[in-house]
Amino acid sequence: DITIHGLRKEFGSVLAVDDVDFDITEGEFISILGPSGSGKSTILRMIAGFESPTAGEIRIGGDDVVGNPPFERDVNMMFQDLALFPHLTVAENIAYGLKQGGVPADEREDRVQEMLEIVHLEGYDDREPHELSGGEQQRVALARALVNEPKLLLFDEPLASLDRKLRQHMQIELQQIQHETGITFLYVTHDQEVAMAVSDRLIVLNDGQIEQIGTAEELYDEPNNSFVANFIGDIN
Ligand code: ATP
Ligand code: MG
Repeated sequence: DITIHGLRKEFGSVLAVDDVDFDITEGEFISILGPSGSGKSTILRMIAGFESPTAGEIRIGGDDVVGNPPFERDVNMMFQDLALFPHLTVAENIAYGLKQGGVPADEREDRVQEMLEIVHLEGYDDREPHELSGGEQQRVALARALVNEPKLLLFDEPLASLDRKLRQHMQIELQQIQHETGITFLYVTHDQEVAMAVSDRLIVLNDGQIEQIGTAEELYDEPNNSFVANFIGDIN
């Protein structure tokens, strides 16, 4: 499980994340919603290890990982800017981290095939990124993020560059993939409607603080305050 306790980030005089606490159960799909500037990306970047907290604990499977470098955290992060390696094939892109980690070639090949199946890209092994559509590139990036079976996968607006229809399709697909792999997902998005449809629970963030954590039904039916009610109500 993942436990975030007293997490805080100050950038000079800006308090970006203000004593945030939450727990994620293994295998959960949790989304973070909140206005621009509310601290969503900063929270993800601290969990991934790209930013150091001013204070607080980040426990991933028991150990506090604050201070550990990103590659020692058993966490992967998917950004909007996918950064696939342009001159590597799909299979090489997916296997890149495994190769760096010393996984033998035959095992890499098996894992790549397994991932291509999960993201519905069987037979795409030898294509290069420029020969793929935007949605297909997203799936390769997802396969690359899943292939080493991290404890936690973080997403920061991964689908924002796709058109609305493809985005909704991909998000439903993400939910299926999450169920299939059992990997814990922490997902930041502006797409409230889809987030509410696919997440087990949602975190509503405002000005660096958590206003409410709950299921979509709880946020709808029992909002903690007028901010949550207005924010969630916006989608209708
Ligand atoms: P968006 O929805 O626009 O992506 P966000 O919720 O992800 O917003 P953050 O990027 O986490 O917001 O930023 C939270 C606050 O911290 C903002 O006020 C932002 O200006 C500030 N901030 C973020 N990164 C830095 C930085 N490196 N230096 C200074 N201030 C920063
Ligand atoms: Mg952000």
